[in-house]
Amino acid sequence: MRIGIYGGTFNPPHLGHMTAARSIMEALELDKLIFVPAAQPPHKALPALTATAGERWEMICLAADGLLLGERVEVSDLEMSREGKSFTSDTLAQLRLRYPEDELWLLTGTDMFLSLHSWHEPEKILALCSVAAFSREKAGDRWAMESQAKALEERFGARVRLLELPEVREISSTQIREQLARGDEAAAESLPEPVYGYILRHGLYGTHADLKRLSDRDLRACSYSMIRAKRIKHVKGTEEEAQRLALRWGGDAVKARRAAILHDCTKYLELPEQLALCEQYGIELDEMERKMVKLLHSKTGAAIARAVYGADEDIFWAIFWHTTGKADMTLLEQILYLADYMEPNRDFPGVERLRALAYEDLDKALLLGFEMSVEEMRERGLQVHPNTLSARDWMLSRGVTLEDT
Ligand code: ATP
Ligand code: MG
Repeated sequence: MRIGIYGGTFNPPHLGHMTAARSIMEALELDKLIFVPAAQPPHKALPALTATAGERWEMICLAADGLLLGERVEVSDLEMSREGKSFTSDTLAQLRLRYPEDELWLLTGTDMFLSLHSWHEPEKILALCSVAAFSREKAGDRWAMESQAKALEERFGARVRLLELPEVREISSTQIREQLARGDEAAAESLPEPVYGYILRHGLYGTHADLKRLSDRDLRACSYSMIRAKRIKHVKGTEEEAQRLALRWGGDAVKARRAAILHDCTKYLELPEQLALCEQYGIELDEMERKMVKLLHSKTGAAIARAVYGADEDIFWAIFWHTTGKADMTLLEQILYLADYMEPNRDFPGVERLRALAYEDLDKALLLGFEMSVEEMRERGLQVHPNTLSARDWMLSRGVTLEDT
């Protein structure tokens, strides 16, 4: 296996790191990429407005997840769990034990590469791995990189490869921290959305966003920082669809959008955390909900939307009912329920019929949604929540029918 090791302080991780990571994976044909956040960087003091090691850890995990490369990308806690300064030579020795037969590549940007000879135990580092060096600047100093490669080869027998990255983002964490501290909007452009959202939620680097009054952009970032990256596409799709449905049926497009942005924000919490939130926010649960974690995220998501992000009552209820539906739903509740069901990324038999109906006859579309849910649960041998049954029966009792569709 060919493994890339990408160390750094990641305070915070930014799009420069991530753009480089993606290109290097391709250029070196890496089977695996391991980010190694340093607990205590040996070569620099942490700045005054810093994030804690734990926060940096969570941010690099969010950024790494955002590469959407599954198990090919890992974040290692080797340095975070070691006492004292984080020396790369110790890290590489540990990785070598774990991967005795594999090819290890240390990935270094300009600054790190040019100072490599002065790191702790360079001879040990260069015996344990090969080095891939890349420029952080568009017009990088090729001559300096080449001279350093030559010097390291001659002095330590290093194996060095210089990479030309197709895309370079000339940004640094230092710059981004300064932008954040002075409220410069440009910071958001240089960060993966979930990392930016994490920073806002935790008030890092001197930010002090009022979470109850966020712009759509900032609300998105916060929401995405709470979920797995692979779900973001669905949340975006739901937002788009909810807005379209609101425009079609005379609903409140702003509210539809904001309800959609937050609707799955607690989707990845485990049962004990879900139950704790229900307790905290006084959400009463029935027998079935207490056991089925999938039914809880709509309730806890609604609670977080209201308590943390200041969502209005109607948004609260739209999120609250988005999984099971219920009898006699408001327009906003109907819109979120359907948008979640048929957003553009959904693909299941019958979705096209549902999409067409949703823009022709809202009642029929809802009835079809409820019927399909009931059918699906039955096919999978799962119990159907009584609220879904009463949602369907409510439609039928009002004479809604699918016969002529
Ligand atoms: P700081 O400003 O706090 O020093 P940084 O932006 O330099 O932060 P680090 O965490 O120190 O980020 O860097 C980790 C690694 O990522 C180093 O090898 C560095 O050269 C590389 N790197 C940093 N920024 C970029 C960038 N914009 N493009 C490519 N590589 C980068
Ligand atoms: Mg740096």
